[in-house]
Amino acid sequence: MSYRLLIDGKLTDGASTLDVIDPATGKVFASCARADEAQLNAAIAAAKKAFPAWSALTHAQRKAYIDRLADAMQARQAEFCELLTREQGKPLDQAGFEIGGAIAALRYFGALELPLETIRDTAGERILEQRTPLGVVAAITPWNFPVILLMMKLAPALSVGNTLIAKPAPSTPLTTALLGEVAATILPPGVLNVIIDANDLGAAITRHPDIAKVSFTGSTGTGKRVMESAAGTLKRVTLELGGNDVAIILDDIEVKDVAPKVFAASMVNAGQVCMAAKRIYAPRAMYDALCEELNWLARAAKVDNGLAAGVQIGPVQNKAQYDKVLALIEDARSKGKVMDGGGAVDRDGYFIAPTIVRDLPDDARLVKEEQFGPVIPVLAYDTIDDVIARANDSEYGLGGSIWTSNPERGQEIAMRIQSGTVWVNKHLDMPFDIPFGGAKQSGIGREQGVEGMKEFTQSKIINVAKNKAA
Ligand code: ADP
Repeated sequence: MSYRLLIDGKLTDGASTLDVIDPATGKVFASCARADEAQLNAAIAAAKKAFPAWSALTHAQRKAYIDRLADAMQARQAEFCELLTREQGKPLDQAGFEIGGAIAALRYFGALELPLETIRDTAGERILEQRTPLGVVAAITPWNFPVILLMMKLAPALSVGNTLIAKPAPSTPLTTALLGEVAATILPPGVLNVIIDANDLGAAITRHPDIAKVSFTGSTGTGKRVMESAAGTLKRVTLELGGNDVAIILDDIEVKDVAPKVFAASMVNAGQVCMAAKRIYAPRAMYDALCEELNWLARAAKVDNGLAAGVQIGPVQNKAQYDKVLALIEDARSKGKVMDGGGAVDRDGYFIAPTIVRDLPDDARLVKEEQFGPVIPVLAYDTIDDVIARANDSEYGLGGSIWTSNPERGQEIAMRIQSGTVWVNKHLDMPFDIPFGGAKQSGIGREQGVEGMKEFTQSKIINVAKNKAA
């Protein structure tokens, strides 16, 4: 299988190649095309050339193309799932969830339309708002959910009439290359282009004058660089960045009921989720019992190659992240208690056993920083005011959850949390029609829902005097 770029409708070898590592073995298992700047520029030129005809289609015509792409992905669903597990590491059932969600996202946003709106229509005037596409959009995506995160950009961007450059993270490029291969026979040339780099073309994309918008998901540090380099051409940016979300457990709920749910909220995808629960706060009276229960769940979890049956936690996706998570655990050992059984697993690949850390001070790195891995600090609190202040004492504000037997009380507390989303008695529920995004340094703008769709368009007001011009 060769993994190629997609430029102007043609599957293209790269100027060079890129090795892709299977995180479950730590060994190279595939090679794919790597673009140079000339190929990037050719892709942008193709997207620019394709834009007038694509944007001039009716929405129903674009929807038909997008539906065919969804059908074609569905026909190769098993191949997408296995490839996703191999390059990303996640268990096969979670890969199935991601690919199924991506296909559903294509269909949902492909069908969603932003019709001409009448703001005012009186005897003397008619004022309309038209939503026009922006032009060439760049979708820059990370390595934790390479397919669904791309689709949250690709589907609405194409649906409203933009053309696209998709650039995956260099450690998970294969599923995006496979999508390019599928799209090559379906979409008109230049509508979707796939460019794969080695973390070296990001700046060339974000400063390019022919790109109208960058839709970026990744770390807060890189997001800041995107915004800075987009400033030169006043590009539109949507930035979905890091988080350090809390799960706050109230004193009215049973430890045995809540522990498995909070454990799942922090450990899904080996904790590599921007909106995962990353700090768990429990009332002091429940603290010991909750720590014990979470550590019991951690020890019972099956950690293995994502292709094996019944796996709950696969490897961390790449060596740099593996080293970072282990460094956070080491740092935590000197300031709190790493519960038994946590830490690196003695085998090839980037496996870290789910790790519960207790008794850390609020200024420990594992509490302050985004760990993005299968390790979670559990902290005790005394009053609701205390826990809300500590939850909000973060530069991040992406998600968060409140766990209680009283949803009304949960809702009251949710109103006081500074973040883009707060769940009560659930976490990571993200329906397509509900916008999400960050507060503070967790991002700018929204994805999903009509609000997210609008970010791929420009608002234009048409203001008509009904009397004939004198
Ligand atoms: P991480 O730090 O975890 O590797 P990043 O946020 O750096 O994650 O990566 C997210 C995406 O941003 C990847 O596709 C990566 O290649 C891309 N990227 C890296 N550097 C830049 C940059 N300067 N400008 C734009 N995109 C970049």
